This record gives sequence, structure tokens and C-alpha cells, in this order.
Amino acid sequence: MANRWETSDSVWLEDERNGQFELAQSRGISRIEWQAHARGRLPDVAQLLGASEPACGHGSIYPEGFVYCPECGAPLRMHGGSHLPPWWGPSTAPLSADAYPLPKYLPLGLPLTAQPLAAALETRKPEPEVGTPDEKIPAPPNAVCVFAAGNFGYAAQRLLALAYTRNVLQYWDPLARRWHLMAAEGTAADLSFTASAYAWLPAAAGQRGEVGIVPGAHGLARLIVNPVNESYRTETLLSAPLASSPGMAAGRIACLLAAPAGVRLWTANADGADGETLEIVAVAAHGGSAAGSVTAGDIPDPDDDAAMPGNAGPAAPAAHAAIPATGWSRPVSYDGKLVWLHELGEIWWHPGSAPQWLPWPAGWSPRLQFGGPVRSRDGRLWLIGHDGQRYSYRELGAAGAQIQPLDGARLGFCTLLFRRGHQVKDEPWAVENVEDQGGSHDLVLPLLENASSTRAQPTGLVLRVEAYSGKAEAALEDMVLPRVQIEWVGQRNVILDEAVRLKQPTDCQPFVYDNCLWLHHPSWNDMRGWRLEAQS
Ligand SMILES: [Zn+2]
Repeated sequence: MANRWETSDSVWLEDERNGQFELAQSRGISRIEWQAHARGRLPDVAQLLGASEPACGHGSIYPEGFVYCPECGAPLRMHGGSHLPPWWGPSTAPLSADAYPLPKYLPLGLPLTAQPLAAALETRKPEPEVGTPDEKIPAPPNAVCVFAAGNFGYAAQRLLALAYTRNVLQYWDPLARRWHLMAAEGTAADLSFTASAYAWLPAAAGQRGEVGIVPGAHGLARLIVNPVNESYRTETLLSAPLASSPGMAAGRIACLLAAPAGVRLWTANADGADGETLEIVAVAAHGGSAAGSVTAGDIPDPDDDAAMPGNAGPAAPAAHAAIPATGWSRPVSYDGKLVWLHELGEIWWHPGSAPQWLPWPAGWSPRLQFGGPVRSRDGRLWLIGHDGQRYSYRELGAAGAQIQPLDGARLGFCTLLFRRGHQVKDEPWAVENVEDQGGSHDLVLPLLENASSTRAQPTGLVLRVEAYSGKAEAALEDMVLPRVQIEWVGQRNVILDEAVRLKQPTDCQPFVYDNCLWLHHPSWNDMRGWRLEAQS
């Protein structure tokens, strides 16, 4: 016989013979294989559910709210109430107030965070002191992945690593200190997505276990994890081959589709309702000159002068080229619009109007690997590229785009920008700020910008390649970089660690989990973490 105990979230069964408790039901959990899974992971499960754990040796777990051991009356260890800010990486979905949402004037979808990282990290010993990580976690077994840290409706924060090239969802058990592969419940959607750069849309306040909306091999799905059972399920939102990751602007989700007739834009409300597929209007782009337009079967945007028939000039041949169905960047959301970038052009969409395809003019090719869109002081976005002669910034989203010529490559995104080893602090094309001549021999690659309303100087995490005189493109692609410093750039610069023999540094992924800033590279055995606490 078993006694039944009900808590606000769960139903427990107490075995009368030995007083042991077993979880029978819990809100949002469809499957519990207590014997097979949870028994070996009771410390982890106790934290997840906010249950109680004995310190006296009687039993192994007690329901939420149990304060004293029923056998001997000793106090139990109670869990719950821990709420660290969640981490999603670059995403265009608006974040809840506890997730440190970015100020409105900054683009979403770039590696930016408003979590107060600088205040903690800048209490460390400044350069030239070389630091070491405070913590290490083994890299997930499937190392090419994206990370999310959150409570997902449970009582403790946990880390997920989605290996999006292999359809593998990985869960970090911080108490057992090991990664578990989560099993699919029933016929879950294929979570692999490699057509374009990966991005997901975090769940705002969904059901328990809800991670968010994820792109997959056959469309968009809502991903719901069951960390007690180490499994997950999906709910299909859209069944169609995707050309890009999903983005969000003005309360609408949107995604590029690889439709049989060509690339289209699909959009729906945040809950997936009211979906529609839109044709994409091709607009010929000529940098700095008059723009023309051709329509690809839809109505021109009346708000855009360049798309009005009266202003139509000669269309560039590139405008007729098919819109590519793969190779798109993560979407960026800015000023109520969404943009996806490609080697061949950009797609802009303002909800309520027709999406626009603007191919780059012949001869100009972007350098997407240098970081991403940068923001000028007047609020416009720009992208770096090369016209065969020199680098330049090209204004984004404008048919008659302005061009700002440059004297060399600049790496970064938003406002965290470097010309070789020197930070660019004013306009993206302004002369770099030379504080130390030695920096001219370095190459700095920004990884994460720390947005702050109280700082004039852009702050964040960078990689510094020392004594590198080659081309930026080569350093980012195939070269083995003998020595790289992992550096925090801010009111004081702090060298957090060094890495040796690093290849493809743009694969480095920073994230925040368990009150640590972490850095992961798919080639490393361990992820390196620095505690976000003031150092004495
Ligand atoms: Zn006891």
C-alpha cells in the first residue's frame, strides 16, 4: 500500500513498508520513469522540484515542503527559491524583466547581454596579469551546440546544450557533474538545422519545461523538456522546409521558407496562430546611387520611396537572381523590423508590409564572419564588406545605401569594434583609439558585448591574437593561432585566460550559467568559467 501526498505541483506516493517516497505526477511532466531514471539522480531531481532531502540517512527524498524527517525529526535540506537570470544567447525574442532585457535602442539577435558582467569581472587583477578560470565543466559530448540556461518552470537553473547538427539535446546534471542525453518522448521533431545559422526563440512564460521555438529539419517546433525524466517532446508549429532560423519583431514570429516556387517569408503570432506566407519583393540596390525596384509577385511597400513605381530606375541583374534557400545569418531585430543577411544580399521585413530582398551591388561582398551589423551614432545599422579595392561599411536596409570607406578590416558587431588591436570607440568608421602601440600587431575578435546604460565605452569579451600580421580572413578561417588571450575589455582590461593552438576562433561561444561567465570552443575538452563575484 502506498500513501498519497499532494503538493501544489506534484503527487507523491509513500511506500508504507519503508517510508520511501516516489514521484507519481508533477505539473507539465507527461512521463516519469522513476525507477529507471530518477533514482540515480535524486539530488538533481530534488533541486529541480524544490523537494526536500534528508541529511540524517532516513529515506532519500521527501515531497516539496517537508521540513523534518518523519522518522527522526531531523531538519531536511529544502530546495527551491533559486532564480538566476536565464541565458539564451543571441535571440530576437523579447526577454522577461528578470532576464536583463536589452535597452530598446539596441538590436536584438547579436551577442549582446545586459547582465551586469563588467562590475564583477573588472574587480579581477588587470592586464598584464594573466588569469585562469575559476571553474571547468567537461564539454558536451556533442560539442557543436547552442546553450540555454534557465529554470524552465522548475525550481533550479539548469544548462541545456542542443547539438543542432546532430539532433541531440544534452542536459548538464551539476550534482553528478555529467552530461545526459535527453531522450525524445514519442515522435518528436528532428531538431537538426544546418541550412542556415542557428537561432531559437525563447519561451516567454510558457508551460513548465518549455524551452522555446526551435528550427528543425522539417519546420518549426515548440521544445518542451522533462528534466526529471531526462526526456523532451515537441509540438509542431510549422511543417515546411526552412531557409533560415526564426526571428521576432513587433510581436510576430517570422522565418524564411524554402518553398517549391522559391523563398518565401512565413509569419504568425507569437503563439503560432494567424500564420501567413508572404512573397518577397526584390529591390535593386545601388550603393550611393538611385535605386530601382522589381516586384516578385507582390505589392511594393508604399512606405518605401524606392519601391514606388514612379521612382523605379533600371533594375540590376542581381535583383532577378533567385533568393538563396540556405546560408542565411541569424536574424536581427531592430526598430520593429527583422533582417537576415547573406553573402548575396539582405532581406528586411517590417510586419504589416511586404518583405524586401536587397541583393548587394555587383563587386561588393560582405564579411559576415567579422561579427555582424554595427550601429552608428544616428542609430543606423551597417555591415562591413569589400569591393575588390578596399573595405567599406554599407548601410543596411536602404536601396540607396550609403557607403563609408575604410582603411582596413574591422572586427565586431553593434558598438564593440576593433581595428586590429585597437578599439574603435566613436562611429564605426572613426579612427581607432590607440592607447598602446603594441596593439597594432594584434588582432582582436569581439565575442560578447556587455550593454550598459551607464558606460560611454563599449565593453565586453574579446579574443586577442597576439603578434598577428596576416589578413583577418585567414585568422578567422583556417589558421592555427598559436596563442590567444581571452580578455575582458572595459573600464579596466582583464586577461581571463590564454588559449593555445586555436582554430576557427569565431566558433567560441560565451554564455552565462550558474553565476559564471563561460567560454566554450568545440575543440576544447573543458568549458572555462569565471565566477561573477567581486574579487578581493
Ligand atoms: Zn531522519
